[in-house]
Amino acid sequence: MNNQTKTVAFHTLGCKLNFSETSTIARNLKDSGYQKVEFTDPANVYVINTCSVTANADKECRTIVKNAMKANPEGFVVIVGCYAQLKPQEIAEMEGVDLVLGAAEKFNIAEYLDDLNKKEETIVHSCEIEEADFYVGSYSIGDRTRAFLKVQDGCDYKCTYCTIPLARGISRSDTVENVIKNANEIAERGIKEIVLTGVNIGDYGKGEFGNKKHEHTFFELVQELDQVEAIERIRISSIEPNLLKNETIDFVSKSNRFVPHFHIPLQSGNDEILKKMKRRYLSNLYLDRVSKIREVMPHACIGVDVIVGFPGETEELFMETYNFINELPISYLHVFTYSERDNTEAIDFEGVVDQGERKRRNKMLRILSEKKRQAFYQSQLGSTQKVLWEHDNKDGKMFGFTENYVKVQTEFNAEFVNQTHLVDLVRINHNGIVEVKINELELAK
Ligand code: SF4
Repeated sequence: MNNQTKTVAFHTLGCKLNFSETSTIARNLKDSGYQKVEFTDPANVYVINTCSVTANADKECRTIVKNAMKANPEGFVVIVGCYAQLKPQEIAEMEGVDLVLGAAEKFNIAEYLDDLNKKEETIVHSCEIEEADFYVGSYSIGDRTRAFLKVQDGCDYKCTYCTIPLARGISRSDTVENVIKNANEIAERGIKEIVLTGVNIGDYGKGEFGNKKHEHTFFELVQELDQVEAIERIRISSIEPNLLKNETIDFVSKSNRFVPHFHIPLQSGNDEILKKMKRRYLSNLYLDRVSKIREVMPHACIGVDVIVGFPGETEELFMETYNFINELPISYLHVFTYSERDNTEAIDFEGVVDQGERKRRNKMLRILSEKKRQAFYQSQLGSTQKVLWEHDNKDGKMFGFTENYVKVQTEFNAEFVNQTHLVDLVRINHNGIVEVKINELELAK
């Protein structure tokens, strides 16, 4: 390595969107002459991309800063991401932090790195979130078989528990042309699967921003992406139920590229709580969306986000949510425990649920999730499906996912990595993973 080359290490917390943005920041820094190293290596610069969803954002951030300081006490520590936008001063007071960049500044990081000497004072460059009204496209390569492609950012909704609009600003989207260009670039890198990401992707293309009127809808984006032949699979990650239209569901059911996997936030099965959350649907609409998917894609995987312990969620109302989900033909849950956030409406709501009770409800729903997942896997046994094999070799086994998101395993074979194969789903093993055998048609190729 040339003595002049500066090194940079990254640590990302939070969602897929953050991961795709870290990749963009990393590419920008590479273009500015930085070489990427591991976070445990002595680097000139450490970039920590934070999240505000985690209850202990401050503690988590502090620990990672300490890890950076351990790897190189002279390293220049930069904090970006949602937590940096929401609480820049809190971060500035943390020992070891040199620079805090807000939502508008994080993509120009190189401009702020002229002097890498650590100083007494932490520098903060953080705009008002209203100024973050421009769009920066990005994608990240996950495990080398799939990529997360950002198509939208920000959110115009006002859910009473959520800080995302404060951290990421108004809803804005990439152009269709740029998304297609990024999809082709991803394909050129040999990646077979794309996961579409954003804060509220169903809102894609909505309204005006930065003086530009967007001309396309989410459905149009889906139709355009379906033409990108170099990509084998596209997954719609998470979409609000009120924005998941019949036309999109019907299109996915006929597409060879969009896979039958939907992740739809529910948050509560009780209408009173949904209204208090200021969600834009009631439980009936949710039921209708799930029924529509099941009607046209009986084999689809449907994931559900749910929050337990929201203020006012009595035992009775929680049980309504539990029973509602229990009856729904869904495949798995992501369970979140409500936690109070500054500057949200819900922080002042009455009916605070005891922490121990929140934990108990979380556990109940996680057990329900496992039951749902196993029942879904069980329903898929005996079918023949396409699986994309991943890289990892764990005790001689390799893993992959079917199009409808069943996790499968077989004996490790280096030649299978990043290939899609037709497999027969044979049985569920003691780890809850489906064991498969390669289908005869595949063997005959
Ligand atoms: S839809 Fe609601 S929960 Fe989701 S990002 Fe927007 S405000 Fe937050």
